[in-house]
Amino acid sequence: MKCALVTGGSRGIGRAVCIKLAEQGYHILINYKGNTAAAEETLAAVRAKGTDGTLMQFNVGKEEEVQNVLGAWIDANKDKQIEVLVNNAGIRQDMMMFQMSTENWKNVIESSLDGFFYVTKLVLTGMLLKRYGRIVNMVSLSGLKGTPGQVNYSAAKAGLIGATKALAQEVAKRNVTVNAIAPGFIKTDMTDGLPEKELSAMVPMQRFGTAEEVAEAVAFFASKGASYITGEVLNINGGLYS
Ligand code: NAP
Repeated sequence: MKCALVTGGSRGIGRAVCIKLAEQGYHILINYKGNTAAAEETLAAVRAKGTDGTLMQFNVGKEEEVQNVLGAWIDANKDKQIEVLVNNAGIRQDMMMFQMSTENWKNVIESSLDGFFYVTKLVLTGMLLKRYGRIVNMVSLSGLKGTPGQVNYSAAKAGLIGATKALAQEVAKRNVTVNAIAPGFIKTDMTDGLPEKELSAMVPMQRFGTAEEVAEAVAFFASKGASYITGEVLNINGGLYS
């Protein structure tokens, strides 16, 4: 059985990615942190595409939880191969740096950057042994340009871009590709409180993107057709680069 693991698969972009990869026939491992009802909705949508999935509740930023849930699943399912890993889980806790607590800093770094490390480390060995794998990391425009009020988030995503490029070179020989996707403003719970009308005016396309539009690009990086692309960062931002 070929599996795709999507972290933060219960809502938003992650859910759209789960559904898109289900269309490609993958068994979807749907990770989430706490919202079981939303994760179950994703699972139902995956099943509606004619494949199946498994819910995996763990905080990607806590190594012990990742080991206890994902590590245990990998050990118990040696016949199953995780071919695709989408490191999508992430949060934002925006404020100016002079007001930012150590906790705000750590929470954001943990979910995007530490989470990438803990989850990918467990999945990578199987990919290297099978000499095939697709890793897609969800970064952000903020990680490329830096956004005021998001020093923690910009640092986490910029760090993940560096990790993407470095790991891509480490594992290229084994046909494992590592790429990143940098969305601009996408309409999800994460952007729910933002002034959409005002911000859309800054976007050349004059609107926020949809989770489905991001999922299309993830599906491409995850496909066999993207075999000679690695270490790349793809912007999905309606033309908003600064
Ligand atoms: P969202 O709607 O807020 O959903 C976040 C998802 O991540 C949920 O499934 C949540 O699980 C999960 N999650 C959060 N922290 C986690 C943790 N520590 N461990 C495991 N799961 C965790 O967010 P989104 O807008 O879809 O964002 C998805 C990714 O895209 C994030 O990495 C974000 O930084 C990035 N991004 C988003 C935008 C945008 O405009 N929306 C722009 C650029 C980049 P629960 O449901 O259990 O809480």
